[in-house]
This record gives sequence, structure tokens and C-alpha cells, in this order.
Amino acid sequence: MRKEDTQKAESGEWMTTSTGTTNKRHTAMRTLDDVDVAGKRVLVRVDFNVPFDEQGHITDDSRIVGSLPTIQELQRKGAKIILISHRGRPKGSDPELSMRPAAQRLGELLKTEVQFVPAVTGDQVAASVASSNPGDVLVLENLRFEAGETKNDPELARSLGQLADVYVNDAFGAAHRAHASTEGVVRHVPVAVAGRLLQREVTILHSLLEDPARPLVVILGGAKVTDKIGVIEAFLNQADTLLIGGAMSFPFLKAQGFEVGDSLCEAAGVTLAQQALAAAGGKLELPGDHIAADRFAADARVKELNDANVPGGWMGLDIGPATAARYVSVIEQAGTIFWNGPMGAFELQPFAAGTRTVAEAIANAEATTVVGGGDSVAALKLFGLVDQVDHLSTGGGAALELIEGKALPGVEALR
Ligand code: ADP
Ligand code: MG
Repeated sequence: MRKEDTQKAESGEWMTTSTGTTNKRHTAMRTLDDVDVAGKRVLVRVDFNVPFDEQGHITDDSRIVGSLPTIQELQRKGAKIILISHRGRPKGSDPELSMRPAAQRLGELLKTEVQFVPAVTGDQVAASVASSNPGDVLVLENLRFEAGETKNDPELARSLGQLADVYVNDAFGAAHRAHASTEGVVRHVPVAVAGRLLQREVTILHSLLEDPARPLVVILGGAKVTDKIGVIEAFLNQADTLLIGGAMSFPFLKAQGFEVGDSLCEAAGVTLAQQALAAAGGKLELPGDHIAADRFAADARVKELNDANVPGGWMGLDIGPATAARYVSVIEQAGTIFWNGPMGAFELQPFAAGTRTVAEAIANAEATTVVGGGDSVAALKLFGLVDQVDHLSTGGGAALELIEGKALPGVEALR
């Protein structure tokens, strides 16, 4: 997207539709603009579920960085801030999955003191909250140390709620789950609102579906059709063109009668692909050439296949150069682009070119560009293109469910 448009998006102007009205679904969600937080105890559900290496160092702090706008705004406004998050999938208390290192990193990023409280409920938490001052930041322990978190236990929800005058949900990545900290807690606080990150995610994803600048080009790849069929169906109505790549293309090619050889091709995907093709009315584009290999490895034998068939003994691991060029010319004409899922096994260098070519075209496009999905974002990082797209969705599953039109419990609770 062009610079002046980026500024518009940041100032919120971009959230206004071309007809001049802001759409109902996101205005109905309460936000930080609707509450007075000065001197109040503000409980913020963040997503600090960051990846760590074997030595216990944070390898990517983008989720913590993503929460800074909300936290800094609350600090400026004089709130007493209590942060809660989950990390990993612990079964009970597990020191390896403590929130302590995330709290420490947050302190470095904020350049202010951040107090870590090694509990989720109980006297120590209550005492720390009671003695905190406006602008202070507390981080509580991993929510999932409490079995009640994922069960949406009313007792846990109540004890979290009792800590707060205002509840803020800024964890979009957890908004598709009805957990104690995302849904139940809302029943036990005077007021619940969206944080800036969650607000931005919901607004941008809704505007993609409701009023995109045209043409809307949707690029879908990755491993499985079955994971993403709901998204394909949602976009069959709304998108002008769907470009399909990655292993996900093989059920479509098989449904059209092409050979797929030993390519990753889910049997369950073929019927779904057939139905999508029937409904697509020519909107859906598929690879016409491939980079194939004799096995899934960086040192495999590799060959370029000049048509859509993959013979036995070979597996398609990337889109071919003719397909990549065809996709680029569609991307260049787009008004809005949504990309989810790599075009090939980009983690292996011989099969990265298709994903790189498409990613570079997205980065250079005039269009408003939105990228979602863990591996797609990883690909952008690998190619150094992260700063050249307008919106990186932190949502993963939540973003896909929202696009599919499903109600997200964590978002519904803020209406
Ligand atoms: P995202 O996380 O962006 O939603 P997915 O998880 O759906 O993406 O898919 C990413 C995975 O798909 C990657 O690990 C990649 O190696 C794999 N993949 C993509 N194309 C192929 C292919 N042709 N054959 C095998 N695996 C593939
Ligand atoms: Mg993935």
C-alpha cells in the first residue's frame, strides 16, 4: 500500500467504508475509546505466547511488541495495568512455561519496571494489585497453570474479574476460544472493551469481507484444503480471483483429472475441491507448472515440470515459474490482497522460489495487503518483507474463523 494510505489506515480513516459509513459489526464492539481508565484497575488479556529456543530465550517477540500500543496508551492514561496471558499447553504448573521471561522482555521494551507476580489467583495477586499505582504494570503467571482457564470455569473467571474495574481483550489469537480469560471473565467485570491490536485485527478483516477495494485477490496455499475450505467458500462469494498454490492445489488438480504423482494430496480434500470448483465460476486459478522432487528434502533430485501433471515417483513441492509469473500479474492489478499459506515447501531452499516471487509481488503491490497464517508470516520474515505489507494478522486460527463468518466468543463478549 502507498505511504499516504498507510497513514490513513493508522489514523483509522481506512476503517471507514467507501460509502462513508463505518460498518456495524466493528462499531458495535466497545473499544478503549469508550472507557475512562484513569486510576482504574485494568485487566488486559494479552497474547504473550511467544516462541522460545531450547535455552529458554525468546526467539520472536513480535506478539509482545504487538501489545505495546494498548499497554502504553493505558500507561499514559494512568491505569493500573494487570496483564494476563497463556503460554504453551502446560498440564498444571510448569516452571518451563512461566510468564516470567515475557514479563522481563516487556520491561525492556517499555523501558519501565514490570512486576511479575508468580500466581494467577490468590492473596499475592490481590496484594500486588491493591498496592499498585497509576501507570504500574503487573504480569500474572501463565493462565493455563489453572485447569479452569480452558474449561471456562466460572470460579476462575470470577477471581480474575474481581481484580478489575475494566477488562480489555487484546489477544486476538485467543479470541476464537471461550476460555475463562477471554469469555467467562466478561460476566464478572463492570465493563469489557477491545484493545488496540484486537480492534485493528477485527476491523481490517471485516473490511476485507465487507467493502474491499477491488479487485480483491485472495492467495491461498499451504498444506491442507480441509483446514481452509471454510475460507475458500467465504472468499468464493467475495473475492474477484483466488490464486491457489502449495500442496493445497493437488486436490484441485486431481479433481480436474490431472495426475498428482506422489504429491501431498489429501483424499478428503478432493471432494471439497470439486465442490469449490463447481461454485467458483472461473474465479479460481491453479498451478499449470511445478517444481517437483523425488522426495521431501533439500538435497532431493529436482526437476521442472512444464504442465499441471506430476508423474508417479515425483512430488510437486513448489509452483513453477510460469504459474508464479501468471500469479504476479494478477497481484499487480489488485486493489486488495489477502494471502494465507505458502506456495510451496519454502522452508527448503530449492522449493522457496514460488513463495518468494509471490511474496515480493505482494510487498510491491499498490493494493492494501493483509497476510495471515504462521507459516506465511514466517516466509515474509525469511525474505525480509515484513515491513512492506499493511497488516500482518497475529490471529492464525482466529483470523480464519472470522473470515469464515464464525462468531468469535472473545469478540462477541465485547459487544
Ligand atoms: P499457514 O501457517 O501460513 O497457514 P499452512 O500451515 O497451511 O500455512 O501450510 C504451511 C506448510 O505447507 C509449510 O510447512 C509448507 O512446507 C507446506 N507446503 C506447502 N506446499 C507444499 C507442497 N507442495 N508439498 C508439501 N508441503 C507443502
Ligand atoms: Mg501453519
